[in-house]
Amino acid sequence: MLQTRIPPLRKGYAAAALWDDGTAEIDVAALHQGYLRQFKANGGAVHTNAEVQKVTKTSSGWTLASTQGAFSAKYVVNASGAWADVLGEMAGAERIGLIPKRRTALIIDAPDGYDINDLPLTVDVHEEFYLKPEAGKLLISQANEDRETPCDVQPDEMDIAICVDRIERAFDISVRRIERSWAGLRSFVADKCPVAGFSKQVEGFYWLAGQGGYGIQSAPALAEYAAAKILGQDIPEHIVGEGFDPASVKPDRSSLH
Ligand SMILES: Cc1cc2nc3c(=O)[nH]c(=O)nc-3n(C[C@H](O)[C@H](O)[C@H](O)COP(=O)(O)OP(=O)(O)OC[C@H]3O[C@@H](n4cnc5c(N)ncnc54)[C@H](O)[C@@H]3O)c2cc1C
Repeated sequence: MLQTRIPPLRKGYAAAALWDDGTAEIDVAALHQGYLRQFKANGGAVHTNAEVQKVTKTSSGWTLASTQGAFSAKYVVNASGAWADVLGEMAGAERIGLIPKRRTALIIDAPDGYDINDLPLTVDVHEEFYLKPEAGKLLISQANEDRETPCDVQPDEMDIAICVDRIERAFDISVRRIERSWAGLRSFVADKCPVAGFSKQVEGFYWLAGQGGYGIQSAPALAEYAAAKILGQDIPEHIVGEGFDPASVKPDRSSLH
């Protein structure tokens, strides 16, 4: 059965597997464009290349000094990813103890003799690698979580070597050429739950950070939750109905650090 589902898996590598057929891939670029269209249709304005360099509390809210000029608003939503604690510090807010962690991924050629198009995303039980088809090629990663400081992170040579080694040991794949490699930051607080809520230290400053490796799939619900809280509305029923506990994302929870 394993060999039928995952033909390139080396015989004897795995004794058993868990098969989840209730999931699907997200087209992240299309999702992102959809969010932007919706935001603009609702009157939102997007300013890119606008690095916030100073955050000042005013009598009516906040003023952000950026490389594209100043912006004033009643509330600030701190959704600055790996930089959330840096921005929080500028605003005089408490630290949430965010730790950015590097994850590296590579694109390699599909192995000869296998049809990879129907391969499922395959991840080992210790989450030491994963592999999935990607537009006729394979995307592979050693699922690393290496501590970083907030930065424009690059893949490390050692990451690449470890990734290739793990994939070659598990699959009948010989990596002859790496078409592309990149790395990104997945940012976590200590308990690995997201942080969504108003700062207890400074008024009108909303934390929306720490989504770790799940910020794409959790974005619709987490953003809807955050918008409801900022606007003083009830949490949508369909979110509460899933068993969501708001205490698990509070910025002042004890398991944060
Ligand atoms: C290799 C990899 C694989 C992943 N796989 C998955 C997956 O399978 N499923 C999933 O759901 N998630 C996945 N993720 C995680 C997901 O990408 C993140 O959780 C998500 O992107 C976080 O979104 P965000 O908007 O909070 O932060 P970001 O996308 O990091 O955006 C923050 C933005 O704030 C900007 N910023 C920072 N400081 C300032 C400043 N001072 N002024 C102005 N702007 C600033 C940054 O430039 C950036 O554009 C993965 C991440 C990586 C790296």
